[in-house]
Amino acid sequence: MKHRHVLSALAILALTSTCAPALAAEGAHWGYEDATGPAKWGDLDAANQACAIGAQQSPVDIANTIRAELPTLKLNWPDSVDTIINNGHTIQLNFPAGGSLTLGDTSYQLLQVHFHHPSEHAIAGKRFPMEAHFVHRAENGAIAVVGVLIEEGKANDVFHRIVQAMPATPGPAAKPAATDMKLQGLLPENLSYYRYSGSLTTPPCSEVVEWVLLSEPVQADAADIAAFARLFPMNARPLQKDNRRFILQSHWRKFHRRRRRGSALCLRRSAQVQAWKQTTPFRLRRKSRCRGIQACRGCDLHPVLQGNRLDPSRPSAH
Ligand SMILES: [Zn+2]
Repeated sequence: MKHRHVLSALAILALTSTCAPALAAEGAHWGYEDATGPAKWGDLDAANQACAIGAQQSPVDIANTIRAELPTLKLNWPDSVDTIINNGHTIQLNFPAGGSLTLGDTSYQLLQVHFHHPSEHAIAGKRFPMEAHFVHRAENGAIAVVGVLIEEGKANDVFHRIVQAMPATPGPAAKPAATDMKLQGLLPENLSYYRYSGSLTTPPCSEVVEWVLLSEPVQADAADIAAFARLFPMNARPLQKDNRRFILQSHWRKFHRRRRRGSALCLRRSAQVQAWKQTTPFRLRRKSRCRGIQACRGCDLHPVLQGNRLDPSRPSAH
């Protein structure tokens, strides 16, 4: 336990150093290529040992998962940014105090978000164009990172503004021209997620991170992703061995995927969907349930709700 606290303290140092205005606050110089690349991180500094010999390293390929009753994510993020920095490894936005993530009984404070190109995690072997990491810390030093995969598609207003504001060269943290920013815009509608125990994906690779990777990606304009890629052509650590760790998958994903075949509009009624989930066996959700949400146009198209495309005798999805 004591060992874990020491690791937590080291991890906090690492997290705050990337928030510090001076790049000199970092340890040995590291990067993503050649002599300072990921394969050498463990040799660059004694503090980086976990990068080389750790058994719970991140990122991993999300392949074999276990469905589990996981708590709903409760995100209460601020609507403003404190500072933005190009720290030479990524673009990072630091937040004022007050933003939080509640995961079960633990409450974490949002510290910062930064970006990787391409994504660090993969799903069934597939990497995405980018990944955002929202870094949170609990009072006891525990760290939780919410990962959001980003794919090319519809423009994302929040990401576009970040790209517009990002400094082209490394330097100290600075206030962006406009500090108001609704971070929720960087989240998908569906907050189902994968959860596993892992590490920081940069030196010192401390194994103190509770990973929460959202299973649904968000979309961003290809031009914005390309603009980030011009500054950071590669800032993703290679996949690490899972070493037989459990990767838990929240139930919501399967439910969601089946619903979206019928009607995206229904999904926006997430509160009602949640209520159904709690009160009704999945197989009984038919057209009659739809009558209660007349405003949700398209429910009558939903295969499960209408019961005309799926076998009604089919067992519950859960
Ligand atoms: Zn990261």
